[in-house]
Amino acid sequence: MIGSATETISSYINGSWEKPAGRTMGIVTNPATGETIAEVPYAAPADIDRAVRAAHEAFLEWRDVPVVDRVQVLYRFKALLDKYADDVAATLTRENGKTNDDARAEVRRMIQMVEFACGMPTLMMGDSLNDVAKGIDCKTIRQPIGVCAGITPFNFPAMVPTWMYPFAIACGNTFVLKPSEKVPLTPTRAIELLHDAGLPPGVLNLVHGGKEAVDALLHHPLVKAVSFVGSTPIAKYIYTTAAAEGKRVQALGGAKNHLVVMADADMPKTVEAIIGSAFGAAGERCLAGSVLVPVGDAAGPLLELLVKRTKSLAVGDGSATGIEMGPLVTGDHCNKVASYVDRGVAEGATPLVDGRQSKPAGNGFYLGPTIFDNVNPEMTIAREEIFGPVLSVIRVNTLDDAINLVNASPFGNATAIFTNNGKSAREYSSRIEVGMVGINVGVAAPMAFFPFAGWKNSFFGDLHAHGKDAVAFYTEQKVIMSRWF
Ligand code: NAD
Repeated sequence: MIGSATETISSYINGSWEKPAGRTMGIVTNPATGETIAEVPYAAPADIDRAVRAAHEAFLEWRDVPVVDRVQVLYRFKALLDKYADDVAATLTRENGKTNDDARAEVRRMIQMVEFACGMPTLMMGDSLNDVAKGIDCKTIRQPIGVCAGITPFNFPAMVPTWMYPFAIACGNTFVLKPSEKVPLTPTRAIELLHDAGLPPGVLNLVHGGKEAVDALLHHPLVKAVSFVGSTPIAKYIYTTAAAEGKRVQALGGAKNHLVVMADADMPKTVEAIIGSAFGAAGERCLAGSVLVPVGDAAGPLLELLVKRTKSLAVGDGSATGIEMGPLVTGDHCNKVASYVDRGVAEGATPLVDGRQSKPAGNGFYLGPTIFDNVNPEMTIAREEIFGPVLSVIRVNTLDDAINLVNASPFGNATAIFTNNGKSAREYSSRIEVGMVGINVGVAAPMAFFPFAGWKNSFFGDLHAHGKDAVAFYTEQKVIMSRWF
């Protein structure tokens, strides 16, 4: 089990937990206190090779297990996740820093992924048509593709891996998961439960590490498909490298999300939605609102309410009750986000709320929420993904101006419009070049049965994560025509 201060995290290869000696050690910290809570041995290329080969051996049997039997493991996994949800959420808060409410919500989303994947007997069904020509019948079937690899980021260590492995294994593939080395405890806890649910050895393998481990997966000839979620530069690298090796790839990248507010919006409710979007999970969400775009007369009433509410946000240790925003994930990341605030001031933006001055005392990786007014689209804080609690306000005159501003962004992950006018909402959602659109919804996070559908530099590939796309991604389609003489 994991959790004690001196814990060394295990990898999981061919059904066995391992703590390999002599490997590079990473450190896991509690962001609320700055304390080291675990060490994580990074897999060497030879460990990755063993994990992939174990997955390959397991695939030769697992692909022939009937899908109704494969999903029985997932039903048992779901029951264990329900039972230990609070335990998983507490682990998540401890290593990632998000509030316990956010952590519990994430675990709920994770369970929904598993629930949806339990429907694989229906989801995998093909089509059939008799007598496509006289006496000739045609049908399509979906077959698994082999060993699949998953590489995941630090911000959703419970949920994001379940965008991948439940679907992959329910389809009959086997899997090697390489979670973020910053937050390996939560995915390890989940795989402990999957082990307890009776998953056969080798069907899912867990390895830890950074670039070296990832590169070994990308170049391994037995890895047939790669799913990635993380920042845009790494997503691009994963996509180009794995595709050049002939692998199927889906690579979800970073974001810069705009929240557009019309003057006719319900301002108090809009402010609550903006607070959740920009400062929920300390802004460490790929769906986080990062640029606020008030249209016309919206700015005055909106900013007055928003600044007041932002100053009242309870920032502190996410495991305490009543806390609305926790720390950032690591000291390095906290310093990076703070440097964006410095940069905003240096480039001439006006800080309406300055998070550098409102952080709790102690050694935790804290930064209070920041709002900048008078931001222009050329400023660094308006262009780059900050991935922290920093909101930049760019005022525009018309809805057309807002649409042009958002469409000029190289990212296309998520956006929202706040309005009481259906025509404005409809026009915005149809003209905007962004994959996930909220209408009076600040975090437009699709449920398990819809795809997670970023565009432009927020996604590289063809088939998105979860929803029916996951079934298509983790299977190969075959067309069978038959005639009987
Ligand atoms: P990251 O890109 O730094 O790391 C993601 C994964 O890639 C980790 O497992 C890491 O070990 C690995 N990695 C890091 N550097 C690598 C390299 N040079 N070569 C190969 N592998 C490497 O991302 P992060 O900081 O963990 O997560 C935050 C980022 O993830 C943000 O940009 C956020 O927008 C993005 N994200 C996107 C989505 C989405 O659905 N589009 C969801 C969550 C997070």
